[in-house]
Amino acid sequence: MSTLRRIFSYTTRYRWRALLAFLLATAGTLLVLVMPAMTQRFIDDIIPHRRWEAIWPTALLAVGAIALRQLIFTARMLSNNAFEQAVVHDLRRELYDKIQRLPMKWFDNQPTGDIMTRIGSDVPAMEKVIVDSIDQALSGLLQFGIVLAYLLSQHVGLTLVTLAPMPMVALATWLYTRRNETRYRAASEASSALNSMLHDNIAGIRQIKAYTVEPQELRRFDRSSAEVRRAQLTVAKANAMTWPGVSLIAEAGIVAMMSAAAYWILQGEMKVGTLMAFLVSWGFLFDPLSRINPLTQTFLGGVVAGKRVFAILDLGDEPNLIDGIRPSALRGQVAFQNVGFSYAEKAPTVRGINVEALPGQTIAFVGPTGAGKSTLLNLLTRFYECDEGRILIDGTPLVELSKEWLRDHIGYVTQESFLFNASIRENLLLAKPEASDEELWAVLAAANADGFVRRLEAGLDTVAGERGTKLSGGERQRLSIARALLKNPPILLLDEATSAVDNETEKLIQQALDRLRSHRTSFVIAHRLSTVRDAHLICVMEGGRIVESGQHEALIKQGGLYARLASAGFREEGKPESHGEI
Ligand code: ATP
Repeated sequence: MSTLRRIFSYTTRYRWRALLAFLLATAGTLLVLVMPAMTQRFIDDIIPHRRWEAIWPTALLAVGAIALRQLIFTARMLSNNAFEQAVVHDLRRELYDKIQRLPMKWFDNQPTGDIMTRIGSDVPAMEKVIVDSIDQALSGLLQFGIVLAYLLSQHVGLTLVTLAPMPMVALATWLYTRRNETRYRAASEASSALNSMLHDNIAGIRQIKAYTVEPQELRRFDRSSAEVRRAQLTVAKANAMTWPGVSLIAEAGIVAMMSAAAYWILQGEMKVGTLMAFLVSWGFLFDPLSRINPLTQTFLGGVVAGKRVFAILDLGDEPNLIDGIRPSALRGQVAFQNVGFSYAEKAPTVRGINVEALPGQTIAFVGPTGAGKSTLLNLLTRFYECDEGRILIDGTPLVELSKEWLRDHIGYVTQESFLFNASIRENLLLAKPEASDEELWAVLAAANADGFVRRLEAGLDTVAGERGTKLSGGERQRLSIARALLKNPPILLLDEATSAVDNETEKLIQQALDRLRSHRTSFVIAHRLSTVRDAHLICVMEGGRIVESGQHEALIKQGGLYARLASAGFREEGKPESHGEI
């Protein structure tokens, strides 16, 4: 009930639309009485009293009323659609806005396909509850009430006989609703799981093809799809078993009505026209009941969807997204003080981290894979919060700063160089929406990317493809460097790409990175010899700890892990690495 109440709270924003929907439904409903009234008039009045002159006016009046009812029906459809779309738009927007404000930890555990199902399917299912209940349920109730009042005014006894099956219909509907919520939830969860898998597989289609695992993946998809089929059939089976029974009870009412009416007519207590009016009205009386089936399904589906959507809307936002200190200037001094963090509750991912960077310095993190290097960068952007210790920027603890301010002052060039499926211009403007084309070309030149962009047929308007796949790895890297240059942040986080590119491109990327790093505090996950050579401090990480730190020559002399990693091979500029990575 509370979920339903909450779904309905969205209508309060559209009181006028809801009122219009209600009024149109009422007007259309009132006009259903025309048919029984006309039938009765013909049979009990016009025919027995041979009133020729009344035939045409009565017929015209009836046709006029029917036409008006259809006109109202059209207006009702138009107004309901507008109402429907307004509510869906609001819900979708609210949900997306919430999703953007959720912490990274939530995304780690939430399959993308599931998130997409909530926006794509659950939101429309919730909206149907609102619109259908106002239009169908209210108008149905109203129709039932009006026709019932009309029938009572004609013959109380026959009305009671007609209504006799009602309690059984109500009981069956109540039982169905109570039992079916879990079935609907199972169907909805199975669809979500199928969507998640589909999303994952389409994103990973290159891997699937490269490893020729199409048959295995088809089998996995088949299992997931069969689960959806099973869950949907369970719902369909429950429907197939319940509703024909309900219809049977309802229709048995007609037989009872005819029999009772025959008795009263033979006794001379009732006119044939009254029976005819009952027969014509019966459809209108039981029509709302026939709507109970689809409506109950809509309600159940909507409540299940509503619970899934509200579960997200009720999650807490990332803390300090907007609020928090916003210093007027940033020098770029960064200190990690005894920092510890764990993604899960188990063993810490990083611990006891103490590093200090003075403004303009480059700190290089090196170490074997999984050592925790990227994690430190994630803590600096506050994608995740430290469990122990603290990070200070210009002496202010990170947790006191507004995340919006912090992220505005940090440039993060990730290894995979993600680009959105938009034009190169739009991808660059993420960093500075008001930048002119001249500024864009200037940063492209500084990132050694202007040459290839000029050669592209559509230039800055070239669309990068999903995740930037229409551009080469080296091109993507240089565009992300250009984007970071445009942002011009005082603090730079850089995860150097490990993928090998040709000598010429390597040189271009290297120059671009040098320009990017100059005059800013940089934290670099380093794979290039030049980066570690230039670094003011190299932190060698292993198992979540800094095990060695110092400058290149000193660390080599020390003959420890760094020296071993270095002898295994740094990537020289212009020389794709050949012996693994650091
Ligand atoms: P690489 O050089 O391979 O990128 P890294 O040194 O940057 O490695 P991290 O990415 O910081 O290593 O990962 C450190 C540890 O944390 C790894 O064991 C990894 O499996 C784990 N880890 C990383 N990201 C997550 C996450 N989002 N959720 C749970 N565990 C994670």
